[in-house]
Amino acid sequence: MMREKYTVIVVGGGASGLMLATSLGDGKNKIAVLERGERVGRKLSATGNGQGNITNAFNAPYFSSTQAGAEKAGAIVARHSPQSLIAFFEDLGLLFETDERGRVYPAGRQASSLTDALRFASAQRGVSLLTGERVERVEKNGNGFLLRVQTDGGEKEYLAETLVLCTGGKAAKNFGTDGSAYALATGFGHTVTPLCPSLVQLKTDTAKIKTLKGIRASAVTLTATWKGGKESLRGDVIFTDYGVSGDAVFRMSAFVTDKTEVSLSIDFLPDFTEEKIYTALERKRARFPEQPFSELLCGIVNNQIGRAVLKCVKEGDLRGAVRLVKAFPLTVTGTLGFDYAQVTKGGVSMDEVDDNLQSKKVKGLYFAGEILDVDGRCGGYNLQWAYASAMTVSEAIQRKNRGQV
Ligand SMILES: Cc1cc2nc3c(=O)[nH]c(=O)nc-3n(C[C@H](O)[C@H](O)[C@H](O)COP(=O)(O)OP(=O)(O)OC[C@H]3O[C@@H](n4cnc5c(N)ncnc54)[C@H](O)[C@@H]3O)c2cc1C
Repeated sequence: MMREKYTVIVVGGGASGLMLATSLGDGKNKIAVLERGERVGRKLSATGNGQGNITNAFNAPYFSSTQAGAEKAGAIVARHSPQSLIAFFEDLGLLFETDERGRVYPAGRQASSLTDALRFASAQRGVSLLTGERVERVEKNGNGFLLRVQTDGGEKEYLAETLVLCTGGKAAKNFGTDGSAYALATGFGHTVTPLCPSLVQLKTDTAKIKTLKGIRASAVTLTATWKGGKESLRGDVIFTDYGVSGDAVFRMSAFVTDKTEVSLSIDFLPDFTEEKIYTALERKRARFPEQPFSELLCGIVNNQIGRAVLKCVKEGDLRGAVRLVKAFPLTVTGTLGFDYAQVTKGGVSMDEVDDNLQSKKVKGLYFAGEILDVDGRCGGYNLQWAYASAMTVSEAIQRKNRGQV
């Protein structure tokens, strides 16, 4: 079988793989991206509701199974910052704008423009973007690597001096990320830490919210507590037949999906004190004594939410009603799962890669992006990680190709 040989093979033509290949492409070294899908960057083109929330202007720590892993990720993002990401894409011809939550988007608000820019620039720099090529196995071959690939036309083999796994995680399998590619890493003896979905809808007990399906509670404060931790944030919660969704829930999921005994509490009126709400209810009762208790919260919170809250308190218990408006409790029972999640928590252990994201087990093997045990909050942090990790690997490979290591 003919084996085409490359200086660098990047497995996975997603966000990190395309950024890496674009950065590496120099017209001299032979670089290839092998992508199992029919097109590169399909997930990237769908990010940020199609608008491409590429990074975030505000700093936030990253998650990893260990403190050391999170710190390593933080240092990598500090070296390859949002400013550096923006400069990278501006150099490819894009302009960016930032919203009030620090979310950075291409000015044309099209995620596909990110993919197009990377496709165009990498091809111009001599990178081969090979699609419909699913890497099934990788193994050491002398100082380099042998890759066995499945295509529609049958099996193929490639040789690479340097190999980078940019195959993403297990979330959103319709974009080619079904978790099967972790086997490429474990085949080299790497550990994959426990995986769970993040940036995902949460399942909860549903008895109290049965009547609320489809109702959006806007600008609430959502608080989650779990064994040893607590987080609060403000945003929208949408009630569903399985539990809760909405941007506040998505953002909160990053903190809780790997925790146990998680409970949520919703403050429907975060800008009002308990006393202020109590006084309003008392006044209403005095003015309209004939109004049924179940309608008492109408005009104060969403009518259906008001009725659902009042079903949970004894007739006439104003203090109880106020307490529930300020802290409506739900118990988290799970998530909607990987198919609905945007990101994977867990991955190839950060303890097993050096500061350049090179494998400590196999020289010449690198990792970038979501395949690693690093995940970020909602709001552009995961694409920022894809970029920062890709640039870290790119610099290391460029040093290697120059013979500096
Ligand atoms: C709907 C959605 C919206 C999102 N929105 C945002 C957002 O706005 N901002 C943000 O920061 N993050 C967002 N994310 C998360 C972000 O897209 C990912 O974290 C990021 O794309 C990860 O980059 P990656 O290169 O590691 O993996 P991916 O982009 O997932 O790419 C991995 C690629 O590897 C390919 N592949 C896998 N196995 C093989 C194999 N064996 N052989 C060959 N190819 C293989 C896959 O087909 C895929 O193309 C979103 C995710 C989803 C699903």
